[in-house]
Amino acid sequence: MIKYHIIHFVKAFQKKEVIIILEKIINLIYPQVCSICGKLNTKSLCNKCKNKLEKEFEYKTDDYSENSEKNFIEHHYFFKYKDLIRNQLLSYKFQEKPYIYKTISSFLENKQKNFENLKKYDIIIIVPISRKRQKQRGYNQSGLIAKEIAKIISLKIEKNILYKIKNTAPQSSLNKQQREENVKQVYKAKNIEKIKNKKILIFDDIYTTGNTVNECAKTLIEAGIDRNNIGILTIAKD
Ligand SMILES: [Zn+2]
Repeated sequence: MIKYHIIHFVKAFQKKEVIIILEKIINLIYPQVCSICGKLNTKSLCNKCKNKLEKEFEYKTDDYSENSEKNFIEHHYFFKYKDLIRNQLLSYKFQEKPYIYKTISSFLENKQKNFENLKKYDIIIIVPISRKRQKQRGYNQSGLIAKEIAKIISLKIEKNILYKIKNTAPQSSLNKQQREENVKQVYKAKNIEKIKNKKILIFDDIYTTGNTVNECAKTLIEAGIDRNNIGILTIAKD
């Protein structure tokens, strides 16, 4: 954790030589460990944990083209939300362990031949968080993973399209009915001309009821985007 913050602090200065030297020093002070089990390892993911993730990995696409309640035509995800990946995503989201994004994304990088069909999309839009939340955290945690996945499938992340205009309670703290109400009318779309006629993937970490991504998609449709051009991508599906 400390290591992650130091590296990111230094990266802010964009001096390559300084970063390399500092990374070496940091690695001496904080030796490399597996970010999942915490045991000493030369890479951030040890073989044992990698094998566990291998077993859990199951890239799938759910078709919603005929489902009129959904404002998108399909949902892609890499894992079912359970066991190890559930644990990891919970730590990543709620225990301020942002460095886990690196472990998950480098695992996915080795799996990319499984999800080649994501390349039919043109851009990724990340589910936005409120300005207040972003200020508290300093970053949008979904953005960290999305950025790496965008690199893997060579898609561009389009920013400044969706905005969260209201602060809401975390979806995870609410029941099914409350979740639907909680996200209603909380997003706003701007700069829509930038994404007209493009195939759009809306990205979030976890899909539970799908209310959040559904509301984001609805906001895009109301701004003039064709439903047939909208798909969803999440790391896991509950
Ligand atoms: Zn491990």
